[in-house]
Amino acid sequence: MSSKNEEKLKFSAEISKVLQLMIHSLYTNKDIFLRELISNASDACDKLRYEALTQPDLSRDGTEYQLNIKINKEKRRITISDNGIGMSRAELINNLGTIAKSGTQEFLSMLTGDSKKDMPLIGQFGVGFYSSFMVAEEVTVVSTRAGSNETWQWHSLGDGEFTIIPMDEAPRGTSITLHLKDGEDQYLDKFRLRHIVQTYSDHISFPINIIDEEGNSEAVNTGSALWMRNKSDITPEQYKEFYHHVAHAVDEPWLTIHNKAEGALEYTNLLFVPSMKPFDLYHPDRKPRIKLYVKRVFITEENVELIPRYLRFVRGIIDSQDLPLNISRETLQHNALLAKIRDMVIKRVLLELKRKSESDAEGYAKFWANFGPVLKEGMCEANSPRQAIMEVCRFNSTTTQGDALTGIEDYISRMKEGQDTIYYLTGDKLDVLRLSPQLEGFAKRGIEVLLLSDHVDDFWVNVVTDYKGKKLKSVTRADIDLDKVSSDSEDKKEEEKDKDQDANVQALCVRIKEILGDNVKDVRTTSKLSNSAVCLAVEEGAMDFRLERFLIEQKQLNTASAKILEVNPDHSIIRSLAGKVSSSASAKEVEDATWLLFDQARILEGETLVDPAGFMRRLQGFVEKSLAA
Ligand code: ADP
Repeated sequence: MSSKNEEKLKFSAEISKVLQLMIHSLYTNKDIFLRELISNASDACDKLRYEALTQPDLSRDGTEYQLNIKINKEKRRITISDNGIGMSRAELINNLGTIAKSGTQEFLSMLTGDSKKDMPLIGQFGVGFYSSFMVAEEVTVVSTRAGSNETWQWHSLGDGEFTIIPMDEAPRGTSITLHLKDGEDQYLDKFRLRHIVQTYSDHISFPINIIDEEGNSEAVNTGSALWMRNKSDITPEQYKEFYHHVAHAVDEPWLTIHNKAEGALEYTNLLFVPSMKPFDLYHPDRKPRIKLYVKRVFITEENVELIPRYLRFVRGIIDSQDLPLNISRETLQHNALLAKIRDMVIKRVLLELKRKSESDAEGYAKFWANFGPVLKEGMCEANSPRQAIMEVCRFNSTTTQGDALTGIEDYISRMKEGQDTIYYLTGDKLDVLRLSPQLEGFAKRGIEVLLLSDHVDDFWVNVVTDYKGKKLKSVTRADIDLDKVSSDSEDKKEEEKDKDQDANVQALCVRIKEILGDNVKDVRTTSKLSNSAVCLAVEEGAMDFRLERFLIEQKQLNTASAKILEVNPDHSIIRSLAGKVSSSASAKEVEDATWLLFDQARILEGETLVDPAGFMRRLQGFVEKSLAA
């Protein structure tokens, strides 16, 4: 095929890579190419239907939107056509020659070359059109943009390039002709095609017709918006296929939320929580993507936050009965009705998550591993329903074993008599957290501590300081008095403290403060420790270690603040030092031991040492002494 008006263009590097994958794909389910093309055709009709609301001229050729699949057995071709929005020359080049989506590079670097692993990724990315090269050796797209009298043809063999040629004017819309590869004749069989459409595309709200060689046309799908049907009439398979269509996904929906709200506000939502984590979940440009329909007419999935960022993994549609059809996309952002729908949808999603967390803990743990950190972002937001989010959060804790999780309500049910605070510890790694000396006193008294190791944890704990009247507090806070919490294990006799010893320890604290000077804010005794002699703590209201370090790394803070050194009065090292504090002969020894203890506490919290060389020297001194003894 060649003409003097023909223009040859190269695919972008990303597309070439995707095409290679499609052509050499060992993908077992090739049928999905049809689903992808039908999905695009349906979107094209949706787009025109919306644009024609304000520019009726665009649909002057008729508003009976439909999709046709025409079979040409002799030439071994099938043509999928729609009378939707169509594509201009520039759109053909841009849409079918490049991938404009954010995160393309990151995405492609995730491709392994192993098609089994890559296929689900490709699906998530929504490169649907290119899947036609799984079954076709040649693809021709002829398109006329609604409102234009120009028709253009795009053609490619799926190698590195495609051509663009002007054509005689054709009716509005797009037809995609697949010249089938050898061995793909099954797609010329109308019963086979009907079966594929009914399996994957029954939910499409426009009629899909199959037209055979003789010109017989048969409508093969139900052709009504899936979300308007009764729940009882929809099979799990149909929900799944609809999810694949709206979300460009290939996984199973983990949760399907289909509701009709009636009363002051009338709308239907059909929302899905994926079972797989999308590759761009944390990409800064990733926006929450819920499609807005008004009375079954698609309006937009952009420029409107139908769902907050912390629920950005939710996909699906919301169809409002109350909004005017001719609403302009520009005003949607500030629409009061939509804001109300949004609030109700948030409540609904959180409620369904709560139900699922109660009915299927194991399944919920999988959801939590994928999306828990995103959901927790919601607790940092000013107007979010923090309590409802907290209720569906899951945490590791000192009571749960291994990776097992617990909820806040379960934590509360296990609180000790006299315990009015929910305790937590944040850090990078769960295994390291479990060994933190900060937990010793809690473990001894059987007080549970939540272990928080997601990055976002450092942030929300600064915002959420209580839950249902109970305080939330880091175990690294100074002045935690565990003695008032009843204990099942502690030996009462141990509590009768020796008065002289107490006075010595107080004198030692004063001495330690003198030695460490401005390196510490204060030196105090604590009931929080058991096996360790000292630990660092921060004042109530002050920034926790990790957040402070993060802000320093981000250059939002210059220096770390001085911490409080907490001392375990019952520890043998502290007792011996307390005994030596008034003897001038031991002054040097007390000083060296103080610095060593302080440095050790800093290391444990991941802080850097003030004087690493001094630390080595002192440590060496003690080792030498103990070896010589
Ligand atoms: P996606 O559908 O995920 O965006 P595709 O590669 O399937 O990715 O399609 C790329 C783009 O090409 C679509 O976003 C759309 O703008 C355009 N397109 C594809 N098929 C059609 C069609 N039948 N009518 C109009 N535009 C289409």
